[in-house]
Amino acid sequence: MKLLLLSIYLLVIAIRFALDWINIRHRQKERQPLPQAFAGQIDQERLDHSDAYALAGDRISFVENIVGVLLTLVFLFGGVLPWYDSVIADFNANFILNGLLFFGLLALIQLLIGLPFSLYKNFILEERFGFNRMSFKLWCVDLLKSLLIGSVLFVLLAGGALWLVQLAPQSWWLWVWGFWAVVSLFLLYLSPYLIEPLFFKFTPLAKPELETDVCDLLEKAGAHAGKVLQVDASRRSGHSNAYFTGIGKVKRVVLFDTLMEQLDNKELLAVLAHELGHWRCGHLRQQLIKSQVLALFSCWLAFTLLNSQLLPGWFGLEQLSFAGQVLVLGWIGSLLGFFWTPLSSWWSRRHERQADQFAINMVGSGQELASGLVKLARENLSNLFPHPLYALIYYSHPPLVERVLWLEKGRPDTVHPTEVVADQ
Ligand SMILES: [Zn+2]
Repeated sequence: MKLLLLSIYLLVIAIRFALDWINIRHRQKERQPLPQAFAGQIDQERLDHSDAYALAGDRISFVENIVGVLLTLVFLFGGVLPWYDSVIADFNANFILNGLLFFGLLALIQLLIGLPFSLYKNFILEERFGFNRMSFKLWCVDLLKSLLIGSVLFVLLAGGALWLVQLAPQSWWLWVWGFWAVVSLFLLYLSPYLIEPLFFKFTPLAKPELETDVCDLLEKAGAHAGKVLQVDASRRSGHSNAYFTGIGKVKRVVLFDTLMEQLDNKELLAVLAHELGHWRCGHLRQQLIKSQVLALFSCWLAFTLLNSQLLPGWFGLEQLSFAGQVLVLGWIGSLLGFFWTPLSSWWSRRHERQADQFAINMVGSGQELASGLVKLARENLSNLFPHPLYALIYYSHPPLVERVLWLEKGRPDTVHPTEVVADQ
């Protein structure tokens, strides 16, 4: 079994590297002429610049992936796991503390290994291409805040789960799932008010005339604007985005200040209409249900496998602590998750297309969204020529050229936006 798991792991790694490789080759060698919508926005020089940006990112990801693969091999297959397990056991802590120590220490090591990469990406790579707006001090403050929040959540979620395992040895999978579902739902709704303000400053829109248009758009889509805010994303990065949150029909709309700098008002509204489309078509609810069903199944499977006592044998070990077994289970899960990626990407692209159609229905045409997306691609130095197979497996959005052509041809369909059943 150990050999089989190792073979599957190496196979997945080989497929991933091969996909990265054909994607880089395709981007550099197979540049098709761009459609009319890109004229005047993205020229040859810009494409070369995008390619240099992507290549710099590919290089550092490659190094990061190699480090990750080597560490995984040494830890799981090179005899470090049983040694680490016995070191933690030597603390003679109780069941809950033992689990927290096991995972906490590993997370800390992982964080330390990731630090140089994070520093390199922010202060060398993003800096070189003009995206980084973060000072070293802000980076440190962000790191400390995330560490603090992460630790609190870790102790709450992992500690709570371990406590439930001890409390209900025969049915913990159901309790743990329920506990995590409740906490994650709370976090989903509370994080815009509790966590995000710790990192970002939310202020009223700098363009007050836009606020009326945003409110009108929301009413047309069957929602109400609670608050329309802009966020100082430009303090950290030049990349741009928009999102909204909120329970029921009252929505809190947040626009990145970078997005407002880059797009005109009509394009901004089209982007927002697309986001509203995700809500009105029920994508957010579907996503939530899908992840909870998957979580429930994972908890049950973990419970069954842990009870079977098979896991230590799979790694050629005589014994392994509960935490150690959960760790290898998580690793096997992430390995199998790779084969799930094409399906979930396809699912997501389907949703994107539906949200695009919703935006066309709201705005009357796809022109504004198309021109907005082209500008965002120019500003963010996006890759316009992904390999079709790479896009098929990984892309959560339709590749931009294809999407823009589709949007330009798009017409409002016969279903009026307000007839779409509102959920969430
Ligand atoms: Zn979308």
